[in-house]
Amino acid sequence: MSVLSKPYFHCEEAAFAHLETALWPQGPVCPHCGSMGKHYDLRKTRLGLRKCAEKACRKQFTVKVGTVFESAHIPLSKMLQATYLMCASKKSISSHQIHRLLGITYKSAWFLTHRIREAMRDGSLAPMGGIDGMPGAGGIVEADETFIGREPGVPKARAYHHKMKVLSLLDRDAGKVRSVVVDDIKPETLRPIIEANILKEASLFTDESSIYTKVGATFADHQMTTHSAKEYVRGIVHTSTVEGYFSVFKRGMKGVYQHCGKQHLHRYLAEFDFRYNNRVKLGCGDVERTERALGGIVGKRLTYRSVGDRA
Ligand SMILES: [Zn+2]
Repeated sequence: MSVLSKPYFHCEEAAFAHLETALWPQGPVCPHCGSMGKHYDLRKTRLGLRKCAEKACRKQFTVKVGTVFESAHIPLSKMLQATYLMCASKKSISSHQIHRLLGITYKSAWFLTHRIREAMRDGSLAPMGGIDGMPGAGGIVEADETFIGREPGVPKARAYHHKMKVLSLLDRDAGKVRSVVVDDIKPETLRPIIEANILKEASLFTDESSIYTKVGATFADHQMTTHSAKEYVRGIVHTSTVEGYFSVFKRGMKGVYQHCGKQHLHRYLAEFDFRYNNRVKLGCGDVERTERALGGIVGKRLTYRSVGDRA
């Protein structure tokens, strides 16, 4: 039986119940005052509706309030389907496919996919390159930069300078990646990002690019491979894990997102980072990955205005 035949992907009541179990494991929580106490069940009036019983509050709410799904005018069951589809497809799925599969307008599908990407955004600021259970010890972090597409409106001849730039850091021991959109790849631009995201105890592995020379010296170790001399691997020294990650991202962006504006790129990266960091090899299957994405819908409201122009 396909996962997609589950009732919560088709029935609104089941969809609300499913999301409530995911977000309210201890029972309803009022999003207005944070009360977990008594509430009135108004689900006979409207799907998922509750009313806070706190004297000072008395506000109504559903499990969607305060989440990226709050202001979307799409049945919750369809939003859960879209979340599953985006979590379960390795190279992602386009807004056009979501539009056709779910029978919602393209515009709704476009906003919905961006809401879900926002839910996938990690937001973790914990430095990478540590080793679990060994304080003060450092692991290996690969760093590399890449260019994506070109910014809209730029003629092809000048495209190289106008390609969008991405820096990715990949913690080889934890098997996790973190990607950042950058304005340029000058050392002074990348250095603060690298320093803020990687523990000093870690070993930094890069190619021989001079971008990394100075920042490399601030870590316990800095090893480089000389790509210009066709040296790609020297024992454990290489950046092929992060390069492999880039190739998945680029294949996905090529087939699925033909025109991606720079203002949206960070959200596409969040999506690919999320799938990579919650992959089968780390013990996370499609269903579990979807549950984790749903866990991220809280506290990241994405309004029409904050998404900006479609691209
Ligand atoms: Zn309340």
